[in-house]
Amino acid sequence: MKFGGTSVGSPAMIKEVAKLISDEQPKIVVLSAMAGTTNDLILYAGALHKQERVAARKILDRLLNRYLNLVNDLFKTATFRQKGIEMIESHFTYLRGFNRDMFTIHEEKAVLAQGELILTALMQFYLEECKIPSVLISALDFMRIDKDLEPDHYYIRENLNRQLTEHQGTRLFLTQGFICRNVFGEIDNLKRGGSDYTASLIGAALGSEEIQIWTDIDGVHHNDPRFVPNTRRIDHLSFDEAAELAYFGAKILHPTSIHPAREKKIPVRLKNTLHPTSPGTLITSESSGPGIKAVAAKDGITAIRIQSDRMLLAYGFLRKVFEIFETHRTPIDMITTSEVSVSVTVDFKANIEHIVKDLTRFGSVEVSNDRTIICVVGDQISESTGLIERVLNALKTIQIRMISFGSSHNNISLLVKSKDKVEALNLLSEHLFKNT
Ligand code: ADP
Ligand code: ASP
Ligand code: MG
Repeated sequence: MKFGGTSVGSPAMIKEVAKLISDEQPKIVVLSAMAGTTNDLILYAGALHKQERVAARKILDRLLNRYLNLVNDLFKTATFRQKGIEMIESHFTYLRGFNRDMFTIHEEKAVLAQGELILTALMQFYLEECKIPSVLISALDFMRIDKDLEPDHYYIRENLNRQLTEHQGTRLFLTQGFICRNVFGEIDNLKRGGSDYTASLIGAALGSEEIQIWTDIDGVHHNDPRFVPNTRRIDHLSFDEAAELAYFGAKILHPTSIHPAREKKIPVRLKNTLHPTSPGTLITSESSGPGIKAVAAKDGITAIRIQSDRMLLAYGFLRKVFEIFETHRTPIDMITTSEVSVSVTVDFKANIEHIVKDLTRFGSVEVSNDRTIICVVGDQISESTGLIERVLNALKTIQIRMISFGSSHNNISLLVKSKDKVEALNLLSEHLFKNT
């Protein structure tokens, strides 16, 4: 069971979570940081990078105050209040320590980990105070990524199992989402929103019955509720559909969090902490029937078009183009080709300058920033007649720069200007889901 930031964002919510996890079912509970904490820690790290010490101190003082208030309201007894305050003070003393030293990306990762470490310790104290037996295991002792920054499944399984066998008979384990160690043993993380990934990796490593993601909404909706009014919950999705939605921007799930569950065919259930009796969305390997299920949008996309006369009738050209992206360790999301040009999209922009320089060997290169991929998801979407027509009809007034259709059974991707995203999502909702 994974609880996200808003699910542990206040004393009342922490108490609610404690209730939800304290039944007899054996489980591992993965907790994120309290809502807003990771954002604040990123701001703190940013201020340290820029040597803005006053700003850095202000951010930390504000965050410390939130935690001290939380502790006051959470605990009933002076003993546990004291324990909570001491634990929080020790984390903040550690955080303040970075003010004096050199600050690099490595220290930043250690800073970002503090939110999850504090919250799990607080929950453990609260459960202790309520006399609910539980054991806190540190994700830093079993969650690890390899040299390619991918989860080290073998290491995770072996070390997690070792931790669990050390506490035979325990029914309730707590651990931190998001944080891990890298191949050098340093503190690292699974990227923003990574607690979902932690839960899925743990569920897959242990072959658990179900992976539950508890959040502030009653499941996956057919469109992004942050940009579209009156969105509705989807009861059931296949792993493939959910993976596409997560990868293409449905914030409710971390982009790669479905993969470990899909590999091991472990059902994933999305639930609302505020309405625990609502059924939520169930994600399984079963198809949920043909048709369009949902749309999502992924921002921050750059499109690169390579135009070359030499491409005409040349074999091996695409390989050469892809090799350049491989050399610069940049994944490609979408691709379209014509006789004399290739267009690709990427969202990892750190190496774009080098990529463009290398690509100009083949011909002219055009780069367009601030693009968004709109992803329409549903089972057998490319096999059904008329669906692409409905999508394009809905988007008649939007300029579409690229379309990817047919490569996946369950996805149509369209590249639009980011400024058109909200309009595109709303138009799709109006035309595709009005009567469903
Ligand atoms: P948590 O802190 O629990 O991980 P997140 O903020 O990461 O929660 O994810 C939940 C949020 O995802 C929702 O509040 C909602 O605004 C957003 N969201 C975006 N797309 C969707 C979608 N298709 N269905 C449901 N929620 C979505
Ligand atoms: N606390 C982390 C974040 O805000 C991880 C998570 O919430 O899943 O990104
Ligand atoms: Mg999240």
